[in-house]
Amino acid sequence: MTLLHDLTVAQLATKLRQKEVSAVEAARHFLGRGRSHRELGAYLATDEDVTLAQAGAADRRIAAGDTAPLLGVPIAHKDIFVTKDFPSTAGSKMLEGYRSPFDATVVRRLAEAGTVTLGKLNCDEFAMGSSNENSAYGVVKNPWDRARIPGGSSGGSAVAVAARLAPAATGTDTGGSIRQPASFCGITGIKPTYGRASRYGMIAYASSLDQAGPMARTAEDCALLLSAICGPDPDRDSTSLDVPAEDFTRALGGSIEGLRIGVPKEFLAEGVSADVRAAVDAALAQYEKLGAKRVAISLPRTELSIPVYYIIAPAEASSNLSRFDGVKFGHRAKQYGDLLDMYRKTRTEAFGLEVQRRIMIGTYVLSHGYYDAYYLQAQKIRRMIADDFQQAFTQCDVIAGPVAPTVAWKLGEHGDDPLADYLADIFTLPGSLAGLPGMSIPCGFGHAGMPVGLQLIGNYFQEGRLLNAAHRFQQATDFHLRKPEGVL
Ligand code: GLN
Repeated sequence: MTLLHDLTVAQLATKLRQKEVSAVEAARHFLGRGRSHRELGAYLATDEDVTLAQAGAADRRIAAGDTAPLLGVPIAHKDIFVTKDFPSTAGSKMLEGYRSPFDATVVRRLAEAGTVTLGKLNCDEFAMGSSNENSAYGVVKNPWDRARIPGGSSGGSAVAVAARLAPAATGTDTGGSIRQPASFCGITGIKPTYGRASRYGMIAYASSLDQAGPMARTAEDCALLLSAICGPDPDRDSTSLDVPAEDFTRALGGSIEGLRIGVPKEFLAEGVSADVRAAVDAALAQYEKLGAKRVAISLPRTELSIPVYYIIAPAEASSNLSRFDGVKFGHRAKQYGDLLDMYRKTRTEAFGLEVQRRIMIGTYVLSHGYYDAYYLQAQKIRRMIADDFQQAFTQCDVIAGPVAPTVAWKLGEHGDDPLADYLADIFTLPGSLAGLPGMSIPCGFGHAGMPVGLQLIGNYFQEGRLLNAAHRFQQATDFHLRKPEGVL
């Protein structure tokens, strides 16, 4: 018999609808797992009363004959989404104990779909990071090897799913924060086209890049959740696109015979470790067996995506984070002189080092005299990177390659060398800068038995095609079903 926590979202939802298990039972089970795996550091906040009340409401909807596809399914949210029933910290001391008066649109839409919230998940402070080590609330341990990072910034989300503390979780991806932790923890995640998911109530990092998406064990589960997450939100997010919500599960099951998979030569060049390359190559061979065709392509500005992203994202962050001034939100220094001193002390005390670094970089590149040299140049190259993708999509239907150059590294390994983290983002940044949908699917194991993820990037609004390609792969492989040793 499959354990309750080993069921996929799709399987659990079916059992809930057939009343083989109640939403309250499912919620209790996962709350219990969260309690007994505190040492992983995944959860930042839980509230059993809130969770069980939501589960009770889901059970009543089920009893009344409601057959909504996600009804009663417990999930957890990255703590970058504001929630009225749980504190929202963005992994920062700045927002310690902060309670939002409203739910983020993504949270609200998932609640309306009948999901039950298990709690809030750890993440890098304001989603800035690639290892989850920038959280003010402690590290998150990778269940495949607890001495290793889970990836970031959605590290808590990836660990909750990989360790079966939740069947699925939300994440956000600005430059790879859904795909990279999914890859490092052996789960599946998708970041939709920029603008398909509302950013309302997502604590802002870099607004022209931030995008929400689901993290789960299978592509099918991601399709179910993404269908609830996406959709226009014209009154609350002016960058949300007027593209109707879609049932992405309908895209699953189609043939991938003749699908042209473009493999950018820059994605398998020097710098990619041998284990990752081998797993990705094997995955591409698997796709060929399934009838897809491998096409060599080039994304010539791949390397430039690092400086471009690390100018644009901090620039936007420096502006977004100016709201944390000790007056409007969160922390305020206890002792200060005049107003400026209050700002200075508040922000020095409550922002972590990485956040302070980015605010400084961002302020610098936007300042008079440097704006043209850095920010404007970065914007121009960003456009070229997006154009390179359009050129590539004349030759292929989806693009595939590694998510990251290596498997998850050791906790503390990058020490206080932020550049080491930045460089590891090289393969997720280009798609982010172009606003394209991208996903990560488990495709093998590398060094030290750590999971390796295959990245699939699609053209705008091709989420269905990506999910189907991922689903096909998962029907033919079992990497996504493997469980970390020690997770029972
Ligand atoms: N690692 C990248 C950064 O630190 C991406 C983070 C993200 O996608 N939120 O900015």
